[in-house]
Amino acid sequence: MIVVTGATGQLGRLVVDHLLRRGVPAGEVVAAVRAPERAAGLAARGVVVREADYDRPDTLAPAFAGADKLLFVSSSGPDDLRVPQHRAVVEAAQAAGAGLVAYTSIVNAGANPLSLARVHRATEKFLAASGLPTVLVRNNWYTENRTAGLAAAVEHGAIAGSAGAGRIASASRADFAEAAAVVLTSDVAAGAVYELTGDTAWSLPEFAAEVSAASGREVAYTDLPPERYADLLAGAGVPGFMVEALVDADVRTAEGALAHVTTDLSDLLGRPTTPLAETVAEALKG
Ligand code: NDP
Repeated sequence: MIVVTGATGQLGRLVVDHLLRRGVPAGEVVAAVRAPERAAGLAARGVVVREADYDRPDTLAPAFAGADKLLFVSSSGPDDLRVPQHRAVVEAAQAAGAGLVAYTSIVNAGANPLSLARVHRATEKFLAASGLPTVLVRNNWYTENRTAGLAAAVEHGAIAGSAGAGRIASASRADFAEAAAVVLTSDVAAGAVYELTGDTAWSLPEFAAEVSAASGREVAYTDLPPERYADLLAGAGVPGFMVEALVDADVRTAEGALAHVTTDLSDLLGRPTTPLAETVAEALKG
């Protein structure tokens, strides 16, 4: 059995798709989800749906029962919730005797200066202390973090941030999902650590130029002081903890935190990672 947590989320759904496409029988795939009623589509495809709510630890070990491999998709939300959630997932994986746990961490987790890296460092420590056979799938930035809401940016002719000319070695969410599926269906040795990045890093001014070219409308990048970028995100309804994380990520990006390129992702995929232009074009289709 291959168990995927967060399988109703954007990444988890794509991982399940890729597992099925790679020939794993649907009955061998468990979607371990917070809200089984939102997994009807997966159940209709024959995927086994089990309740697994990180906030209700008693649901976790039963959901992980029989897991030869468990993909632990990191939770969303503020760190004070995520750290205990992740501890509970690791304890449940131990209790269930999972054969291998693959965890979606953050690139360069040990030294990554982003505030978002803290929960991943903590979780990697929980995993190491558990003695579970573990594979770390450390993901860099999703290109979609920037292409979400692109139509509005095109309408206003403006993209804002605080990352200056810092470069971002992003890849598409689908690339990261496919790589996770490859890991889950390969004979990967416990202890493996993948630093997954896109093949090419880009800056926000280059991103704006790409959006201009693809949309045929002039879209300029405006670099804002962090406080003003925070105000802009908050005004757009972004929750406070996420405003802090995104502004911090931009400030660290300006310092080069997301710029490093590896070939781990394209090696796993056996093809180049999805270019920025393709994800931009996809987003503009709406
Ligand atoms: P989503 O927000 O789409 O998915 C988050 C998943 O976490 C959902 O499936 C959600 O469940 C699940 N989840 C949240 N809280 C709980 C809980 N209490 N119990 C069980 N499951 C829970 O994000 P993505 O799929 O795009 O990304 C996956 C993860 O990767 C994120 O959660 C985050 O940790 C990280 N991430 C990484 C980014 C990057 O650039 N590398 C960018 C964004 C996120 P439900 O479906 O019920 O909502």
